Amino acid sequence: MNPDLITLIDLQRLDDIIRGLEAEVLSLPQTISRLEAELAGDIQAVETCKKNLDENQKLRRRRESDITGHRDKISKFKDQTIEVKTNEQYKALLHEIEFHEADIRKTEDQILAEMIDSENLTKSFREAEQTLGKERSRIQQEIAQATRRKEEDAVKLNEVRGQRAAIQAKLSLQLYEQYERIARFRKGQAVVVIDDTSCGACHVKLRPQVYAEALHNAQILTCASCGRILYYAPSVASEAATA
Ligand SMILES: [Zn+2]
Repeated sequence: MNPDLITLIDLQRLDDIIRGLEAEVLSLPQTISRLEAELAGDIQAVETCKKNLDENQKLRRRRESDITGHRDKISKFKDQTIEVKTNEQYKALLHEIEFHEADIRKTEDQILAEMIDSENLTKSFREAEQTLGKERSRIQQEIAQATRRKEEDAVKLNEVRGQRAAIQAKLSLQLYEQYERIARFRKGQAVVVIDDTSCGACHVKLRPQVYAEALHNAQILTCASCGRILYYAPSVASEAATA
């Protein structure tokens, strides 16, 4: 195989790795923020459930103290009935007592409804706590993993960029610039393997003469349609033939 072609294939391989690593390095902070938001959501859910439960209990305590207030008044009115002079005064007191008794019944019904609510709220609170308990360790683990991955990627990128510089030095400036130009126009894909008898990227069929020459990998050939550098790999051709 043409030594320049080997170098170009190597360069493409390293650039693919670099592009993958760069994309991952860029996406990892987003992954981490997404995970942090997920955890914050789980914590928030527990806090909301706790707040709802606290409010329910506070409301019930207030209603119970309301009932005590009504009972105090009723007993005061009952005491007064002993001292009343007229039937009208007596009736007025009875009316007051009935009014407070009705209020007690109404408040007791509300308390009962809130006790039922409280059971559901307690259940939701426990469930939210369980979810948080389970999710917290998973999310924290994934955040740690993503953080570690980011550091590993940075080290690997440095290493691969070093390898790339060494490989680039093997090419003539002219050939390297040709590679770079194609890569720039073709989303980083400058060197492609021949797929059956077509360009592996744009899939335009090669002219028979170009194909025949390409089989030797003896010179740098480009696709007449997309301009990418072509090479022949027997394994790819046989895979295509059996597919
Ligand atoms: Zn092509």
